[in-house]
Amino acid sequence: MKQTDTAPNVPLKNFKRTKIIATVGPATNSYEAILSLIKAGTNGIRLNFSHGNHEERTEQIKWIRKASAVYGKPVAIIQDLQGPKIRLGDFDGIVNVAKGQVLSFKYQADYAASGHLPTQYDLATKVKRGERIYLYDGKVRTTVTSVREGIVHVEAENAGILIKRKGMNLPDTDFGGDIITPKDRADLIYGSVQDIDYVALSFVQTADDITNLRGLLKGMNSSANIIAKVETTAAVENMEAIVVASDAVMIARGDLAVETPAESVPIVQRQIIALGLQYATPTIVATQMLASMTDMPEPTRAEVSDVATAVLTGADCVMLSDETANGSYPIESVQIMKRVIRYSESHAPFAPSTYDHEDTSRQSAISKAVISLAENIAAKAIVVETQSGATALQISSRRSTIPVIAVTSNARAAQQLAIVHGTKSYTRPVDAMAATKLTDWLRKSKVLHKGDVVVTASGHYPGVVGTTDTIKVRVLE
Ligand code: PGA
Ligand code: MN
Repeated sequence: MKQTDTAPNVPLKNFKRTKIIATVGPATNSYEAILSLIKAGTNGIRLNFSHGNHEERTEQIKWIRKASAVYGKPVAIIQDLQGPKIRLGDFDGIVNVAKGQVLSFKYQADYAASGHLPTQYDLATKVKRGERIYLYDGKVRTTVTSVREGIVHVEAENAGILIKRKGMNLPDTDFGGDIITPKDRADLIYGSVQDIDYVALSFVQTADDITNLRGLLKGMNSSANIIAKVETTAAVENMEAIVVASDAVMIARGDLAVETPAESVPIVQRQIIALGLQYATPTIVATQMLASMTDMPEPTRAEVSDVATAVLTGADCVMLSDETANGSYPIESVQIMKRVIRYSESHAPFAPSTYDHEDTSRQSAISKAVISLAENIAAKAIVVETQSGATALQISSRRSTIPVIAVTSNARAAQQLAIVHGTKSYTRPVDAMAATKLTDWLRKSKVLHKGDVVVTASGHYPGVVGTTDTIKVRVLE
């Protein structure tokens, strides 16, 4: 086991509590760029499996682990599956669409020869007459008029253009619990033998999709946790069950704003963040957070405000997509995001509304006691021994402003905690004194100082999940 042995050089009270996830892409496809992203404040890296190949991924995973070790901080690697993101296939040039025009789609058709627009997925088995199909991020809106012999006919509601490989959204279509495509399965098999911390599932419709994926991962011996991407009408309708079933939830605003009315997205965002706090499920606000920084060195006022809002309302993470994958200012985007987070956290006019967990589980009760004790004695830190990370998650979900330092013998758990609000994780061998030893090391490394008070939570059976039973107060000498 590799232990994290680099001490942070910022005072504990200056840590950013909200985490940053950055997407790696052509703009950041090198070890040096990844190291810079991590140095600038990135806690989680998303590998978008809608693009790229497995060889590239393997190299990126190595770079991330190496950079994270150099910088001494665990980083969460997220495998983001494409899901049933349906795209147009290849054809030459631009297709002009007139209002009222009838178009036809066929799986892998040759457009020049047949006049049917090719799709990368066989829609004809799923869509029905009257359902909507939105093309090119909603720029061309159509309705299905008929489905015959594998060909889907639609009528365009507005004029526009179509270009090869642009996305198609099917907000009305029921995929009948079959949202994990053959490509996703192949990517999952690849991911199961790679060092991956989370799998993000796109276009989730119900909590069963999460349960199915959990079964698949288990069968592959994968220790990855699951992030549900909420980006469909069905997911919005089932959001509470999805938050309960998942290990983390992403408000995937890109597709969500095409599949549901754009004006509903800010409300859904707040609802999901609130549910995340209620069920101790981390939440991620994604897409277009600093979109203008893809081409410009400065964000807009609205973008700064968007990041601040996510922080103030209690999201665990804010995410960058194009900004770091394809943009001209990837590192600057992370730096600005971090500045906005830090300022918002240290000047917050109100605390996010947290939830007084009614459950009487020992974990929940201990977390509550730890926080109330730590706050009452103005502790500098809460140091918690955790095997799976669950105790740290419970404590984090109460959104105390006291930093949570998690110590675990499980590197996977430490990496998964990297995108959990207010939590800093360390990997150490299984030891009944792990929390005490880590506290001593932090004192020696001048992160904690003489006279500081810390509260530690540990268990009688170190290394066993769910056995936290001891709370201690320590005044450092
Ligand atoms: P994507 O997901 O970038 O994989 O489409 C995020 C979103 O839709 O917002
Ligand atoms: Mn999406």
